[in-house]
Amino acid sequence: MQNSHEPATAAGLAHVTARLDKACHEAGRAAGSVTLIAVSKTFETDAIRPVLDAGQRVFGENRVQEAQKKWPNLARAYPGTELHLIGPLQSNKTREAVALFDAIHSLDRESLAAELAKEIARAEGSRAAPRLFVQVNTGAEPQKAGVLPEEADAFVEACREKHRLAIEGLMCIPPADENPAPHFALLEKIARRNGLSGLSMGMSGDFETAVQFGATHVRVGSAIFGGRPPITG
Ligand SMILES: *Cc1c(COP(=O)(O)O)cnc(C)c1O
Repeated sequence: MQNSHEPATAAGLAHVTARLDKACHEAGRAAGSVTLIAVSKTFETDAIRPVLDAGQRVFGENRVQEAQKKWPNLARAYPGTELHLIGPLQSNKTREAVALFDAIHSLDRESLAAELAKEIARAEGSRAAPRLFVQVNTGAEPQKAGVLPEEADAFVEACREKHRLAIEGLMCIPPADENPAPHFALLEKIARRNGLSGLSMGMSGDFETAVQFGATHVRVGSAIFGGRPPITG
């Protein structure tokens, strides 16, 4: 049924886009220099479609299986759609991930680098390799994925030299209860010294700060789609 009101998610997108443009302006960066990844995890296609209709084409999901269910048909219906995996990747899901995602932000261990190299080689010719971001656990939180900051240089080198993977950048999720700025600064420093141009950092609550620190990709969910039910289990 047609509704005269703008759907809530399209309004959320417009609001976030305006915030992002303002943050770019204030940081002295060109509007459009930061890629907005609309994080649609947990949301059904009915909530996602208005965001696609409003022109957004880059989306993030954190589970391979959920994305497999939701995205192939949607992506066909909206040419140019780009899908980013932002959640942890189990090695046994690597083949599916390489087939579905245009970018993977959660590369954090050598066994996964080896699997990715194998599956990318296997898919060569049929599909462009997903762009890869190494996740860094900037807060060294025991429950969080990512390589430790002091291990990041060696890990990036192993990905490049041993596994022959092209690495686009780094990703982090700062500790929830801390000022994110030092974490963004640390990620930028590690990226710079490793010659990496991509910085995937900043979420609904802190993406303006991330833009100040050089984010090239911000991952924004709830500010576009609304709140998610709490994670259980
Ligand atoms: C869910 C999620 C986001 C988006 O979080 P919001 O606070 O809803 O914007 C960003 N990055 C990762 C890795 C996530 O899992």
